Amino acid sequence: MLAHGRPYLAIPGPSVMPDRVLQAMHRPAPNIYKGALHDLTASLIPDLKAVARTRHEAAIYIGNGHAVWEASLSNVLSRGDRVLLPVTGRFGVGWSEMAQGLKVETEILDHGFSQPIDANRVEAALRADHEGRIKAVLAVHVDTSTSVRSDIAALRAAIDAAGHGAVLMVDCIASMGCDRFEMDAWGADVVVAASQKGLMTPPGLGFVWFNDRADAARASADLATRYWDWRPRANPEMYHEYFDGTAPTHHLYGLRAALDMIVEEGIENVWKRHEILARMLWAAVGAWGADGPMALNVPDEAARGHSVTALSIGSPHGDRLRNWCEAQAGVTLGIGLGRVPADGYFRVGHMGHVNAHMLLGVIGVIDAGLKALDIPHGAGAMAAATQVMVEAIR
Ligand SMILES: *Cc1c(COP(=O)(O)O)cnc(C)c1O
Repeated sequence: MLAHGRPYLAIPGPSVMPDRVLQAMHRPAPNIYKGALHDLTASLIPDLKAVARTRHEAAIYIGNGHAVWEASLSNVLSRGDRVLLPVTGRFGVGWSEMAQGLKVETEILDHGFSQPIDANRVEAALRADHEGRIKAVLAVHVDTSTSVRSDIAALRAAIDAAGHGAVLMVDCIASMGCDRFEMDAWGADVVVAASQKGLMTPPGLGFVWFNDRADAARASADLATRYWDWRPRANPEMYHEYFDGTAPTHHLYGLRAALDMIVEEGIENVWKRHEILARMLWAAVGAWGADGPMALNVPDEAARGHSVTALSIGSPHGDRLRNWCEAQAGVTLGIGLGRVPADGYFRVGHMGHVNAHMLLGVIGVIDAGLKALDIPHGAGAMAAATQVMVEAIR
């Protein structure tokens, strides 16, 4: 009865599409051989580098996050190489499966579901690699299934402390344009992201940023194939206007609008907004959980991502609550990905084009759902959230 009106897809990607992005895409097909579209594509590269905080290279692919997982691996590795994966959730596992599919050996350091990457374990594993078989360390900045966020600079320090030559590759698909990320300052060599999360553009574009150390690995990578090769993509002179074949025309217009929005807001402000919205939600969960089964998945606040929050609520309340919120209030929450039983968990996406009234709306809807479904919960969630908001902007 109350679900009609503008829906809110509060899942951790694809995220909410800004009207400005949609309007930028609503246009006739452009000429792909010359003119405006070519200039527009060239204009994206500096802004993509700025979002990742790098002065190195950026390549755009037609594809989703899985595509750039594969693209990044194929530019660095050869068949039979070994990679080290400190895993904090389902997406780390997914990247390892992609590597295995390329006949790359994987060494997984399982960190469970609620702990960030332990740089000491990574350092120890690299020190034990006497033959130098590990070619890369693959880390997920924010694992979307658990909402665990890891310290990437600490990983660089661990690799250096071990005196190891492994390339540091980071999946920022859930964090780019949401959580602070500093590719160059933190020492990441390869970074991947996709369009449909913090970058507020429909699914279909993937991005790989890489530095000179990574490109040196590219020189001997026998998995590098013509389509995934990052060199021509990062160098339009070598390539037909950035793309092999037809450019993803309308996505490029959408991305241009999204990057304009990020530039206008300022990346520091974008990060701050995500942080405050996340803390508002966490405060609400604290109030609910004070007298009931709901709990944040990640105990340590410093290890929580700012774009997605994973919660436990006890089976089968997760599914009941999600279904109620969608049917009764037009809010779609994320499923409990990679957890058993899945219906004991849910996730809230607060990434990209999300502001205070949307987040407060989600909190109010969850509060109503808990009451309607007789799921035990503590009082005062909304007051706790607004308190965080007011203090943060005072
Ligand atoms: C969404 C996501 C992926 C997968 O991206 P797809 O576009 O769905 O292939 C990988 N890693 C992380 C951290 C993600 O959030």
